Amino acid sequence: MIIILKPDVDRTGPEYQRLIAFLAGLQGVESRVHEVVGQQQTLCEIYLIGNTASLDTRDFEGFAVVDGVVRVSKEYRILGRHKDDTRAAGFEYNGVPFDQDAMHVFAGLCAVSTRAHVEQMLRALRDHGQVCTRMGAYKPRTNPYSFQGHGRECLPYVFELAGKYGIRVIAMEVTHEAQIEEISHALAAAGDPTGVMLQIGTRNTQNFELLKSAGRQRRFPVLIKRGFGITLDESLNAAEYLASEGNHNVVFCLRGMKTNFSDPHRNMVDFAHVPVVQRLTRMPVCIDPSHSVGTRGASPDGTPDIFHVTAQGVIAGANMILVDFHPEPARALVDGPQALTLEELPWFLDDIRIARDAYLARRERAARAVHQASPASS
Ligand code: PEP
Ligand code: MN
Repeated sequence: MIIILKPDVDRTGPEYQRLIAFLAGLQGVESRVHEVVGQQQTLCEIYLIGNTASLDTRDFEGFAVVDGVVRVSKEYRILGRHKDDTRAAGFEYNGVPFDQDAMHVFAGLCAVSTRAHVEQMLRALRDHGQVCTRMGAYKPRTNPYSFQGHGRECLPYVFELAGKYGIRVIAMEVTHEAQIEEISHALAAAGDPTGVMLQIGTRNTQNFELLKSAGRQRRFPVLIKRGFGITLDESLNAAEYLASEGNHNVVFCLRGMKTNFSDPHRNMVDFAHVPVVQRLTRMPVCIDPSHSVGTRGASPDGTPDIFHVTAQGVIAGANMILVDFHPEPARALVDGPQALTLEELPWFLDDIRIARDAYLARRERAARAVHQASPASS
């Protein structure tokens, strides 16, 4: 059960104290207070955990500080969609809105290779009106002898160049809690020229200690990838770990499932789950066509498979695209064979626009169909 308090409630006031005393008296119920500090107002929610089945929502609605009460189902208490749930979904980070209506492209380097490549990439993004990117500094590799990423060494120039080219959000994978600190320090040292969305990779989807660390900090939003060998439910529970620790600014990323049946693609594309995740949860949904497809194969009409699956995700309502590009794929240190080139960037963006327009037209058509089916609900 979630008790939503009125905006900017005075937590030292007598009515708030009376509510807290009431909650403390409930047997077998633990309460956790979550504060979300926004630009306009501070929102406070109290999560009741434990034996809440016998509680009556009306018991709380009598308190003047309470705005509403949501009885949540067991699944994904915080990030899930629940009946009569009017809580706002999504968030804004560094001036960029992330929600189930948004659509942002995070094109960039799977792994940072050289300063020159970073600059070429970011300049191309700026020239094409993009304000988000992906830059891998810490790389989880299957083979211990493979390049593991430049780590914190590359952060100063990545952040400086991001500021120079107007990049507002960089998706950057972290594999260990200490890297969150390294990113924080490097950003501060560079004068906070950009923002970072922490990425939890598919190999770490169920690294619960990492999830708790990323969830305890509220500074950076988190992009969590679906685990490539676990159920959707298990991956959504992993996302809920982040929220249960206090960080609700979470984006969920589909990136394909590991199976040999997907050959010749690297993974089995699972973008049919975009609307599924949107209806089960309030998270914005990202797709990663590069790690799904993993090759530069193209159809006879010349359209690369990566473009096709991107369009499939976008036409189903995806809110974010994480995609590998490289100025010189042959010299990429990780995943060169799946990287798109800078010359392909305007084509890729046009193709996304075509699919997005089709999605918006489909959404509009669906709204009319729903309206016709139940005109009384208008
Ligand atoms: C990545 O995005 O660079 C990556 C390693 O992806 P995944 O965790 O999906 O394999
Ligand atoms: Mn990769």
